[in-house]
Amino acid sequence: MRTERGVTIVGAGMAGAACAVALRAAGVEVRVLDRGRVPGGRMSSPALHDRRVDLGAGYFTVRDKGFAELVARWDKAGLVHRWTDTFAVFDAGEPPRTSSGPTRWGTPAGLRSLVRELLSDIEVTSSTCDTLPSGDVVVAMPDPQAARLLAVPDAVDYQPVIAVACGYRDLGGLPFTDAAFVNGHPHLSFVAHDGARRGDGAPVLVAHTTGELAAAHLAAPDDVAPTVTSAVSELFDIDTPDWTHVHRWTFAKPVAQHESSHHLSMAEGRLIGLAGDQWCPQGAPRVESAWRSGTDLAAAIVAARS
Ligand SMILES: Cc1cc2nc3c(=O)[nH]c(=O)nc-3n(C[C@H](O)[C@H](O)[C@H](O)COP(=O)(O)OP(=O)(O)OC[C@H]3O[C@@H](n4cnc5c(N)ncnc54)[C@H](O)[C@@H]3O)c2cc1C
Repeated sequence: MRTERGVTIVGAGMAGAACAVALRAAGVEVRVLDRGRVPGGRMSSPALHDRRVDLGAGYFTVRDKGFAELVARWDKAGLVHRWTDTFAVFDAGEPPRTSSGPTRWGTPAGLRSLVRELLSDIEVTSSTCDTLPSGDVVVAMPDPQAARLLAVPDAVDYQPVIAVACGYRDLGGLPFTDAAFVNGHPHLSFVAHDGARRGDGAPVLVAHTTGELAAAHLAAPDDVAPTVTSAVSELFDIDTPDWTHVHRWTFAKPVAQHESSHHLSMAEGRLIGLAGDQWCPQGAPRVESAWRSGTDLAAAIVAARS
């Protein structure tokens, strides 16, 4: 292996995985590092009470043509399914309504399974980088995390979210089928039926807090569980859950976006690339923009090397 000609990718979320796959396809040797025990980043689907639960991204959309080709392959392999195009909307002080939008896609095995599939023949080393590795390098993560390793041009900030998974005996009487946007609520922003999106019908909801509530509880995220479960019970008129699991996303969603899909510079004789969902000129940072960012960065690296 010609490591001096390889590229080290720090971050094995969707952006880093997409970059690794595209570089590998172009014949470039890659080394992927992630501080997590498993790849996936914000596409996180840990096993809770014997079943995978999507604790980060809850679904994905498919507007990008290149991403659509990949999703068609996943669809054929049974890794993804069309979930719904209609969510409930709970506006403060208003009766619930529904809102239709793009098709939202789900996965039978959790969204992390897609990053795993992309990286199925690429080794990921579990390692936290405190400094920038040598040689050509890609840093694929939120800007505040990347800024610990290098100077990020016009770094954008991120909003936190705390996700609370709630397991019930049954969810009869739930006033929505798939998911609900919650607007104007002091504690909740979104609640999804995890059994509906995963397709197994399990009585599990995942509630996302508002950014404000998350910001106030970043030091002790577990403290937020009673507030969230009471809010869910009250809003949807259902029982309190049998179990809960709390996950803190300090850097959940970029509050602004860069105007290009990636950044590549040459410094001290080596290439340094930046990718992630914040590199999103379309203005809607999400799973598909992270894929686009990593894919575009790989193409730019290949072009720069030739
Ligand atoms: C609560 C929540 C809900 C969301 N809902 C949706 C949704 O419904 N639909 C949608 O499309 N998108 C959604 N998203 C956004 C989506 O998850 C992201 O756009 C996408 O996963 C970002 O991928 P990424 O590769 O850019 O970053 P990440 O997934 O954050 O990957 C960065 C990786 O870098 C690693 N890392 C960081 N620092 C270091 C270090 N020093 N050394 C080594 N490794 C490091 C991390 O462990 C991580 O694996 C949601 C996100 C959250 C948090």
